[in-house]
Amino acid sequence: MSQLKVVVAGAAGRMGAANIRAITEHPDTVLHAALDRDGSEAIGQDAGTLAGLPACGISITSDAEKALAEADAVIDFTTPGASVMLSKLTSGRKLVHVIGTTGCSIDDDAEIAAAAEAGARIVKSGNFSLGVNMLAALVRQAAAALEDYDIEVLEMHHSRKVDAPSGTALLLGKAAAAGRDVDLEERSVRVRDGHVGPREAGSIGFATLRGGTVVGEHSVILAGPHERIELTHRAEDRGIFANGAVKAALWAAGKDNGLYSMADVLGL
Ligand code: NAD
Repeated sequence: MSQLKVVVAGAAGRMGAANIRAITEHPDTVLHAALDRDGSEAIGQDAGTLAGLPACGISITSDAEKALAEADAVIDFTTPGASVMLSKLTSGRKLVHVIGTTGCSIDDDAEIAAAAEAGARIVKSGNFSLGVNMLAALVRQAAAALEDYDIEVLEMHHSRKVDAPSGTALLLGKAAAAGRDVDLEERSVRVRDGHVGPREAGSIGFATLRGGTVVGEHSVILAGPHERIELTHRAEDRGIFANGAVKAALWAAGKDNGLYSMADVLGL
């Protein structure tokens, strides 16, 4: 099999560097182009050097059309606006598009789903690690079995993170809601402040912590009478997300167009 030619979008970002390293290290993938936003200081710099590797001769560009020419796949950890824009380009070219970007609105998600319908092979997940997707499966099971226990999702990330709750916290909340056969949008309590009254039975609460350089920590707490279960994942290195994204790109290369999740890739 020839190597999958992958474009990294958000190449100058924290995840971009991890994705460039993961693609370079995997025998079945090769870095095809590196894309970042117009005006970024990284434009023109060598993508390998910026990712802490030897120079690879690929300069970071802001020209998406040029970057995608003759590519097989895009691994995209950017912003919601950029991911929606790129999904229009990947759908026209029937490319694999792995989207790790979080903070997408309902409208953004609808545009991404339309791009998948129109031709792109999209894998979108709030978390590409094996561990978190395994955790989501366990949360779903626990939420179903302990049907009267209160569920709270607690997360902590580094101080530069811009969206809250994290995409992973929402993924875990959705898993809990699926276990209870309820809609997360109707049950979630995102913020508590002031005299909010007692906890509403059946709600799914979220609490967000920000600080330092934490890559990502998530706990789902199931609290019942006189006991608590805490299911926790701690990410120690962004490589776990990047390796999962590369796995997702290789998996989607053999699939029809459509919108897939990391649970589909892992068969969970
Ligand atoms: P970051 O700010 O370090 O990097 C984002 C990069 O995207 C920046 O270099 C920025 O210039 C670039 N960008 C912005 N607009 C662009 C455009 N139009 N075209 C190309 N590039 C553009 O952020 P990060 O920590 O790398 O995280 C990026 C996203 O990935 C966030 O939404 C974050 O929550 C998410 N994330 C997801 C997972 C997961 O497993 N799904 C894991 C970690 C982070």
